[in-house]
Amino acid sequence: MKLLEGKRGLVFGVANERSIAWHIARNAAEHGATCGFPYLPGEKMERRVAKALADGGFAEPWLRACDVSNDADLDRLFASFAADFGTLDFVVHSVAYADREYLQPGTFVDTPRAAFAEALDISAYSLVAVAQRAKPLMKSGGSILALSYYGAEKAAPGYNVMGVAKSALESCVRYLAADLGALGIRVNSLSAGPCRTLSAMAVGGFDQILDKVAESAPLRRNIETDEVGRAAVYLLSDLSSGVTGETHHVDAGYNAIVT
Ligand code: NAD
Repeated sequence: MKLLEGKRGLVFGVANERSIAWHIARNAAEHGATCGFPYLPGEKMERRVAKALADGGFAEPWLRACDVSNDADLDRLFASFAADFGTLDFVVHSVAYADREYLQPGTFVDTPRAAFAEALDISAYSLVAVAQRAKPLMKSGGSILALSYYGAEKAAPGYNVMGVAKSALESCVRYLAADLGALGIRVNSLSAGPCRTLSAMAVGGFDQILDKVAESAPLRRNIETDEVGRAAVYLLSDLSSGVTGETHHVDAGYNAIVT
């Protein structure tokens, strides 16, 4: 059974074939969805994203450059999507950024104001900016999904300002869910266990985090990124029609236990 047949969505955050967004898009497409792909502006990035999508089976993908910290980029993106597709059914927000200089264990206390503001703007506020523009296009309701991590709930070594941004992101999910629920628009986050991606490599001590999960998570292993993609299909589809404002963990159970 195809769970997203006829649905149209925007998937933010494909950088390469390791990206969580890539795995979500592949699973969404397998379930019949049509996806558009905003990517961080830059020729190198455009080539990389186009190749990753081609390798993922997306022939002639709908690609638009969009820096989520730039309102004009976001306005252009949503106007272009509206012109080409009319309506929007789902959005995947799989985007985050913090200066890696401040993602080393034991250095959160040294975070400068500018690095804090930048991380919160790109990684948390951007969800609000995206939801504002998605709202008028989601004429028959919709689903907005953000990607979070356990470092939103507990201080995780090296995650630092990104943990603060993820706490804000999860809170934005709840407030957006409260505002948009009456329109049938659901907003959730998926808290993924550690996956080897470009962004994850910026977090100091990432390999130790993977080792710790493998040894102590209830499932005694790390997750596969594809497992995030499959759970995302549930949250994007009508299977989760009664779920909003939720943070759903796909982390081999790591958050459920004391380590
Ligand atoms: P990734 O590097 O593949 O994806 C991050 C994406 O963010 C990239 O495509 C990058 O181009 C984009 N981006 C950064 N700044 C941007 C901007 N200003 N405008 C537009 N796009 C921008 O890494 P990923 O691990 O797939 O990350 C995706 C999401 O998943 C992030 O929110 C991340 O925090 C979250 N997450 C990752 C893990 C993990 O272990 N990899 C775990 C939990 C949550």
